[in-house]
Amino acid sequence: YSGKKTMASVTESMMNLKVKDFQSVPVVVSENMMVYDAIVHMFLEDVGTLFVVDHRSFLQGVLSRKDLLRTSIGTQNLNQIPVHIIMTRMPNIVFCKKTDSLIVAAKKLIERQVDSLPVVNEKEDGFEIVGRITKTNITKAFISLAETHDL
Ligand code: ADP
Repeated sequence: YSGKKTMASVTESMMNLKVKDFQSVPVVVSENMMVYDAIVHMFLEDVGTLFVVDHRSFLQGVLSRKDLLRTSIGTQNLNQIPVHIIMTRMPNIVFCKKTDSLIVAAKKLIERQVDSLPVVNEKEDGFEIVGRITKTNITKAFISLAETHDL
């Protein structure tokens, strides 16, 4: 048994983890959906973040649990406010690509203090959403490393 050798190979395997091998299915809503319906959607889909798209399905915004909570305590009629009013919008969205290393995505999550990143495919006039990376995906990758190396 060599501790040094094990660490070197763990490091190498870690660098080889890719976003595409750990990403989840993204849950998207239209920018015209009302806040009330977005809250229902978040519960039904069992996610913590919704991605907001325009009519061409291009990424326009992000809605977190707290975005929806903040609006709920400050607003009377959640049926009259479309999500594009309250979402975090482009170009302020942090995202990653499916070929990125998972470590780079993990760093973005921590540095920007967010729970989730859209995985995007860049098109000529926008970003198509192809996946989602959350802290859960990073934790699963962490476990997979331990299993690969019998740690
Ligand atoms: P919560 O607000 O429920 O704690 P987050 O920490 O993910 O969840 O979100 C914090 C804020 O950052 C919210 O206003 C949300 O809209 C925004 N946000 C979430 N994900 C991203 C992202 N990938 N890029 C930019 N902003 C984001």
